[in-house]
Amino acid sequence: MTVRRHLTQVDMAKIVSLSKRRGFVFPSSEIYGGVGSTWDYGPLGVALKRSVKEAWWRAMVLERDDIVGLDSAIIQSPQVWVASGHAAGFVDPLVDCKVCRGRFRPDHVKVYKVVGRGGEELGLVSAVGNALGEVTKEIVERGKAQAKSRGKEFGSLQEAGVATDYPAALIPCPNCGAAPGSLTEPRMFNLMFKTFVGPVEDTASQVWLRPETAQGIFINFDNVLTTTRMKPPFGVAQIGKSFRNEITPGNFIFRTREFEQMEMEYFVKPGDDEKWHDYWVRERHDWFLSLGINKDKIRVRPHEKSELAHYSKATSDIEYLFPWGWGELEGIANRADFDLKQHAKHSGKKLEYFDQEMKERYVPYVIEPALGADRAALAFWLDAYDEEPARAMGAASEGQAPGASDEARVVLRFHPDIAPVQVAVLPLSRNEKLTPTAREVHASLRKRFVTQYDDAQSIGRRYRRQDEIGTPLCVTIDFDTVENDNAVTIRNRDSMRQVRVPIAELPAAVAAQLREMGSTRA
Ligand code: ATP
Repeated sequence: MTVRRHLTQVDMAKIVSLSKRRGFVFPSSEIYGGVGSTWDYGPLGVALKRSVKEAWWRAMVLERDDIVGLDSAIIQSPQVWVASGHAAGFVDPLVDCKVCRGRFRPDHVKVYKVVGRGGEELGLVSAVGNALGEVTKEIVERGKAQAKSRGKEFGSLQEAGVATDYPAALIPCPNCGAAPGSLTEPRMFNLMFKTFVGPVEDTASQVWLRPETAQGIFINFDNVLTTTRMKPPFGVAQIGKSFRNEITPGNFIFRTREFEQMEMEYFVKPGDDEKWHDYWVRERHDWFLSLGINKDKIRVRPHEKSELAHYSKATSDIEYLFPWGWGELEGIANRADFDLKQHAKHSGKKLEYFDQEMKERYVPYVIEPALGADRAALAFWLDAYDEEPARAMGAASEGQAPGASDEARVVLRFHPDIAPVQVAVLPLSRNEKLTPTAREVHASLRKRFVTQYDDAQSIGRRYRRQDEIGTPLCVTIDFDTVENDNAVTIRNRDSMRQVRVPIAELPAAVAAQLREMGSTRA
């Protein structure tokens, strides 16, 4: 079924406001004034993230013979992070503004040359990263002020790279605009959170919270091999929390200090690694498409050699076109034999595979698709957002409360296997004649589908609410149901089609419509 979308670019503010209004995501510790860039998932948000994780787990573990699951600890031996290179190398450069006390990653700061009317260069202005490279009003104002301070007339701004391309002393503060000389030289900053195990806070008891789930898989390589009879090519998948003391968290749940990852380490014979890397890039890209992501908003970007992490032989990112520009959604890295060799060296244990048939022993290479659950949920959410102008609503106005049809219709067009609620059960009113039947209908559906029962407010407003949270189907129980035909109406979010179905046939009819909308599970 093709559905016309009305918005190409989603306004982030709309998503954040809808989120708060409907209960997707709340600022964390809100009653205490919040802690920056930390979020709590509300009832709908948790349902959305859960279905994203379940869809991933199904595709990666349940529907394959070659991948098994694992759930390793967040606190691991500090030796793990020494071996992996995180203790020494997991650092970002960071500059501080002495005036506004802002703290930035210089590689996130865009720099523009201020050019005078006569084409002469008048200095630099800067702004915290906007991946689209858009020259905002604020940056133009800074350019004008810069020209004015030199007694010159402002001409234009030219993009000139990021702050790492220049000495910090030449860059004005991207936050408060303070003159060059306000920023400190970059300092290296370890992104791992430290804590202590036991009552004594000394270096012997110091541990880190894991910054990625992957290492928990590598250190269990031998356990999995000896207990499962897996042989390369095979994978181990894990979903769990990771922690990074990010210097510049932001963009809602895109970059936070506490987040969930879905990572899979796929162990292959050396020499087969490039083939499997290509395979996983394709596979992961297609996974997003299979769950309804707009193909024009997703792309694969191979890393330049200079961008590669210390462990990586090759990496391709799957990027999504977020409202602020293309951003990494998932990284698919060829980690070669780096991790297993490092852990073998540091632990003194052999981490190899012995091929009984070929009588050969080798250290497998690893292909790693690594996706953030929060970032994926955000991408599905932004991608689903649609607004229909009031006049184009057609059947939407049926049964709506007076006045409701003047507003634009906001619809989240979630894939039915991702939607936080799949079917809403809506009695026409709270009339006591309707309630028992509506409750029975709900009971018959909730075992098979994710459902919600709602009998508050007018039916029109309830349709609006279900559209706004992305529920594919609404089932309405009216007086005809109980007095005449023992049938209910199914209303389809996308086609707006309404069909009358006998209650006895309802679960099958709901499943058929969800399948028609792309579900592979209903
Ligand atoms: P970035 O360049 O955005 O910092 P990264 O390359 O460091 O990301 P990886 O280490 O490859 O990220 O982590 C794999 C995935 O985990 C990312 O693609 C992203 O989806 C997710 N992720 C990483 N850091 C964060 C974060 N701070 N908040 C939310 N998700 C994150």
